[in-house]
Amino acid sequence: MSTLDYDYKIDVIVDKIRDLNAKNIILQFPEGLKSDAVSIANDIEGILDDVNVIIDADPCFGACDLADVKVNRHIDLVVHFAHTPLPIKTDCPVLFVEAHSSADIEAPILDAISSFDDNVKTVGLITTTQHIHKLDEMIKIIEEEGYTVKLDNGMGTSKGQVLGCNFTSIKYLDVDVIVYVGSGDFHALGVKLFTQKPVLLADPFIGKSRQIEEFHDKILRIRFARICKAKEAKSFGIIMSSKKGQLRFDLAIKLKQLIKEHGYEAQILNMDYISPELLLPYKLDAFVMTACPRIAIDDSAMYKKPLLTPQELEIVLGLRQWDDYQMDEIIVHDEQT
Ligand code: SF4
Repeated sequence: MSTLDYDYKIDVIVDKIRDLNAKNIILQFPEGLKSDAVSIANDIEGILDDVNVIIDADPCFGACDLADVKVNRHIDLVVHFAHTPLPIKTDCPVLFVEAHSSADIEAPILDAISSFDDNVKTVGLITTTQHIHKLDEMIKIIEEEGYTVKLDNGMGTSKGQVLGCNFTSIKYLDVDVIVYVGSGDFHALGVKLFTQKPVLLADPFIGKSRQIEEFHDKILRIRFARICKAKEAKSFGIIMSSKKGQLRFDLAIKLKQLIKEHGYEAQILNMDYISPELLLPYKLDAFVMTACPRIAIDDSAMYKKPLLTPQELEIVLGLRQWDDYQMDEIIVHDEQT
């Protein structure tokens, strides 16, 4: 996908570099925007020819995954694109550049509204950082069609904003239907899993909307199968992240104790980048994820052994019923500012 419709706010970046008198800066992009990295680096160096711009080429999954932890003493500023800050301490100044999309939001929202049934009166609205600057426009479009729009601030999010691991801005709203403005199944699936309400995904990049039910049902069937398989496990690996924004130390320790209390073996594995290959050497039957809550759900097919969320582990241990299935979230961060 071409990303040239994003506003990278070069003027804001240049002002920040001048304010800090920074000489060496590192740019950090999520995967979907990395194809613009060279162009952005050239633009900055074209304006400030005495500044060294370095591109962070490692994977970047969110604001939980800041490059500040791996910069060397030469780096004066991290510029992190496309995510909003999380409440975590940083080792180096960080400028967050939200990279707003200019994609039209009216057509997909009107398409979503056209599929509402007659009972719909209230609409919960939610979107991601890349479209959040159009929130007022979204509200106006829905209200002009005669519906009441409800939004929430959430905890650690701004009004109407959803993160892949934080659904607090939508999960407590009492509404008839939820419109998620964004692309891909990732966030809409989470909204559906948390709310169990009808969710319409209004995609600004294709100008249409669609239901999420079928995908949601498929994921739940997969989760059920993984939980059943994990019930055969005798030993568990608890994955703890070394990324500051994904670190849940206390939870990892608590889960280890809990598993042992139920008569199974358990060890904690500390990891930065998490992949199936890195887990292969460990003689463990199943894994529990305390890092990014989405890895167990979204990357499930890549892992041969069951990879569970903490809530799914509770089902395995008989501490939670399947009917009370919940997604995992990271609301409070270990390393708060
Ligand atoms: S923990 Fe996962 S879902 Fe949450 S911000 Fe990081 S990458 Fe996104």
